[in-house]
Amino acid sequence: MPLNLIMLGAPGAGKGTQAERVARQHGVPKISTGDMLRDGIRQGLPLALVAKAKMDRGELVDDDTMIGIVRERLSRPDAVNGFVLDGFPRTVAQGRALDGLMSERGSGPLMVIDIVVPEDEIVRRLAVRRICSKCGTNADPADAEPTCRTCGGTLVHRSDDDERVVRERLRVYEGQTKPLVDYYRSRPTFGTVNGAQSPDRVAEELEATIADAARAAAGASLGARG
Ligand code: AMP
Repeated sequence: MPLNLIMLGAPGAGKGTQAERVARQHGVPKISTGDMLRDGIRQGLPLALVAKAKMDRGELVDDDTMIGIVRERLSRPDAVNGFVLDGFPRTVAQGRALDGLMSERGSGPLMVIDIVVPEDEIVRRLAVRRICSKCGTNADPADAEPTCRTCGGTLVHRSDDDERVVRERLRVYEGQTKPLVDYYRSRPTFGTVNGAQSPDRVAEELEATIADAARAAAGASLGARG
């Protein structure tokens, strides 16, 4: 069964790091809409440059733009056997559009995992987060290295990790993204993971939750076949 996984959670909950790991482990692409927008900005793409003003203020880019980007990305050959989505959907409208896309694909259910971390811990994490200015990889916060271990690029603080912008991103998360948790919660393929632990512990809990969700999905499709 394909792994069609969505990672939910506040900015700084560790979605990106964990999504990377799960994607590698299961041989599917990690699709991060934030990374795609930042890549587009680095390349000077007009659509991404329009999005930049919103990103710098901690606001969301409009649903139609984001749905279009994800629709195109999921249609590429490397995503036929599944994907890990990080940072999408971020609104209930995006969630509904993704459900529509999934039924067009007919490729098995979505699994949804919410990584939960208290707000104080989020603010503390984002204050010290550094990413590579060249390839976008998140640096390990415990690592004092000034350059990226993946490509040697310079590590920088993300401009939207500035404390004032972080507060706005958390406000946007509470108002626009958290309602998605209620949108998905009643599905048998929904699970939560405690993100306030070491990355290794989070990864273990995540794999166990994915296995539970896969069993629930298999049960649901057996049930559907009668
Ligand atoms: P992220 O790297 O996921 O924290 O995303 C950085 C910024 O990109 C967000 O604060 C938004 O401005 C924008 N963005 C990324 N994904 C989405 C999305 N699915 N919907 C709207 N805006 C997004």
